[in-house]
Parts: sequence; structure tokens; C-alpha cells
Amino acid sequence: GVAIRLEGVSKTYADGTQAVQELDLAVEPGELVALVGPSGCGKSTTLRMVNRLIEPTAGRIVVGDTDVTRTDPVVARRDMGYVIQQVGLFPHQTVRDNIATVPRLVGWNKARTADRVTEMLELVGLDPDTYAGRYPHELSGGQRQRVGVARALAADPPVLLMDEPFGAVDPIARDRLQAQFRSIQAQLGKTVLFVTHDIDEAVRLADRIAVFSVGGRLEQFADPATVLGA
Ligand code: ADP
Ligand code: ADP
Repeated sequence: GVAIRLEGVSKTYADGTQAVQELDLAVEPGELVALVGPSGCGKSTTLRMVNRLIEPTAGRIVVGDTDVTRTDPVVARRDMGYVIQQVGLFPHQTVRDNIATVPRLVGWNKARTADRVTEMLELVGLDPDTYAGRYPHELSGGQRQRVGVARALAADPPVLLMDEPFGAVDPIARDRLQAQFRSIQAQLGKTVLFVTHDIDEAVRLADRIAVFSVGGRLEQFADPATVLGA
């Protein structure tokens, strides 16, 4: 089956802005797909609709076996980790508590949650003894981003959604973080849909690239070589 399917999805905001128009897109399980295009072309709107932070005006969005457009958003989101540019870590919670958010929400016990926090920190290359007790302001931008990824993956959702995940990281750390992310994704076999304005980043990371144009239309959906050649 398909991991993420958008069928005839449109979004018109209350002020009349047509952000996304008649979008059809199917992402295969384990695939890493980038949404690219100029600022304002509807990339974030698309991601936010998949995560049910906003509702489409028309069309259908299916994630796994769930029609997210007809499901309680809180339930629909259990299958999706979500990472945003400024990470959105809870500032008054430790790294440990940030990563434990969703496992606790879905009722994991203390021991399983604690083990998972350790495992996730190791996965993203942060020493648990050093970092679990820190607060977000005690981390670098790249470290915060890693914690964001660790948190999004903590409850083992099949799908990961990321909006400019490396945007706030300095260029040198970004290269390393991208490479590490790619290897984590391959290792875990997650389906990933991510937004970037950086075509190089899309080419480096993605299996396929969805190119949007102004007005929220999908121009092209193909592998990086084809997109570069076009
Ligand atoms: P991108 O992520 O590609 O930069 P967005 O999805 O953020 O694009 O925005 C697409 C269009 O929708 C833009 O014209 C933007 O100004 C508009 N838009 C985004 N959010 C809202 C909103 N809450 N209300 C009205 N218009 C919005
Ligand atoms: P908010 O809407 O205020 O950001 P949420 O309660 O929806 O808060 O989520 C809090 C944080 O937990 C979000 O920043 C998000 O990254 C993360 N989160 C929410 N749901 C999931 C999930 N299913 N999997 C992974 N992370 C999630």
C-alpha cells in the first residue's frame, strides 16, 4: 500500500488565498519525499494538512489506513512525527521530558519510556548522560534539531513530517545533520515528507521531489536527476 495519499486536495484560506490547488500525490512506504518551490507556493500548507493542523477545503488525505480528513486530529497524529524549523521544544522541560511527550501521551509505562528516551538520544548522536537533563536553551541549534527528530520518532510513528528541518542550523553542522538524518531514516525505514526551499538539500536527501509553483500547483513529481535535468 501507499503510505501517504493526497487526492484532489485544495486549500483556500478564509481570506480567499488559494494556497493549494487540486493536489494529487502518493508517497510509498519508506520513501523520502521533498516538497520544494518558491516561498508561498503551498508547501507548509500541504504538510500542515497532512498532519491535520489545518483542514483541506476539498479532497482526501490518507495516511496508512487512516483517512485523516475524517479522523479526530489527535488520533490521526499518532501515526505522524512532526518536526518544524524552530523545533518547538517545550522550553521549560528537559530534553528527557520533551522526548517522552508522545510516549506518555499514548500511555507507555515509565520504564519503557525511559528506555526509549535513551535509545532515541543515542540514535541522534547525543550522549544521554550529558544531554537528557538539559533544557533546550542549553543546547546548540543543531542539538535542538536532533532532539526535535528524537521527539518526533519517540513513539515510533511510521510517518515523519518535517518543515524546513535543517533551516535554522549553521551550514557546516547542516551537512553532518543531513547525512546523519539520511542514515537514520534508512535504518528505521520511515516514510518521510519534508518541506525545503533549498533544492540542493532536496536533491541530496530525497528519493523523489515534488516541485510546486506559485498558486499551489504541483508542477512535477520525479526523482532528483529528472528534476535537475528538467
Ligand atoms: P510555503 O510553505 O510554500 O512558503 P505556505 O503554505 O506557507 O507556502 O503558504 C501558501 C500561501 O498561503 C501563501 O500565499 C501564504 O501567504 C498563504 N497563507 C498561509 N497561511 C495562511 C493563513 N493562515 N491565512 C491566509 N493565508 C495564508
Ligand atoms: P502543539 O499543537 O501545541 O504544537 P501538540 O500537543 O500537538 O502541541 O504536540 C506537541 C509536540 O509534540 C509538537 O511539537 C509535535 O512535534 C510533537 N508531536 C505531537 N504529536 C506527535 C506524534 N504523533 N509523534 C511525534 N511527535 C508528536
